[in-house]
Amino acid sequence: MSETKNHLRLEDEFTFACHKGLKCYRSCCRDVTIFLTPYDVIRMKKALGLTSSEFLEQYTDMVIMPGRHLPMVQLRMNPEDNLQCYFLRPHGCAHYPHRPWACRMFPLDERFEGGYKVIPSPERCHGLVEGDQWKVKEWLMDQGATQSKEMDGSYDSFAAHEMLRELDITNEQIQKMIVTSIYDMDAFREFVFKSSFLNRFELEPELIEAIKVDDTVLLELGYAWARFGLFGQKSLKLKEGAEQGGVKK
Ligand code: SF4
Ligand code: SF4
Repeated sequence: MSETKNHLRLEDEFTFACHKGLKCYRSCCRDVTIFLTPYDVIRMKKALGLTSSEFLEQYTDMVIMPGRHLPMVQLRMNPEDNLQCYFLRPHGCAHYPHRPWACRMFPLDERFEGGYKVIPSPERCHGLVEGDQWKVKEWLMDQGATQSKEMDGSYDSFAAHEMLRELDITNEQIQKMIVTSIYDMDAFREFVFKSSFLNRFELEPELIEAIKVDDTVLLELGYAWARFGLFGQKSLKLKEGAEQGGVKK
């Protein structure tokens, strides 16, 4: 693969066409590492008719990656079916309209340093050998990856926050707070409405109504709570007389 395929910008082009006639069809949905974004979890648990707690329990593993300061939620492959993705069917992905961001990006991925790269080799992903010419930005739009990224808008800045480096990510209390506040929306909703949360923090009545039903609005509150509890930021306003609290680091 040429060097340029490892450093693409939005205006650059690559060749790609995936279709059922290819020998490699469905092979990329087996034994693959897919990290889910918070919005992926919201979308997939809804598609499956599960709570976020059920979805996380049944279909994901929480992993700590070297060099990452956040616990990551990884889509579990099915050990009883040759490590295929649980959602793979003979015709393809059973939840294609709700597939995760990483599946939308494929065969591309973001580069850590910025820009994009083609991940598989043409020997593995035959769709790279011949097909349509795609500009990177057209591919991202066509696959809904751009829209997903927008819905996950707060994640990148949260994950890049320098204060994350100071956290003991092996601390179970910190892991639980992060997973609950940005991945497990149903557990977070229960926490907000059944704990002293609403007695401690000033929230607009409209926001309280919205978070009862809208996971994406609740997710923004989750980021605010995580920033408040983990970084000590004033991302939430305490009610008069309420204690600061927070998580021991
Ligand atoms: S390996 Fe590439 S061409 Fe083959 S099914 Fe997967 S995405 Fe399509
Ligand atoms: S979610 Fe769908 S597209 Fe993604 S790996 Fe599983 S079957 Fe493949």
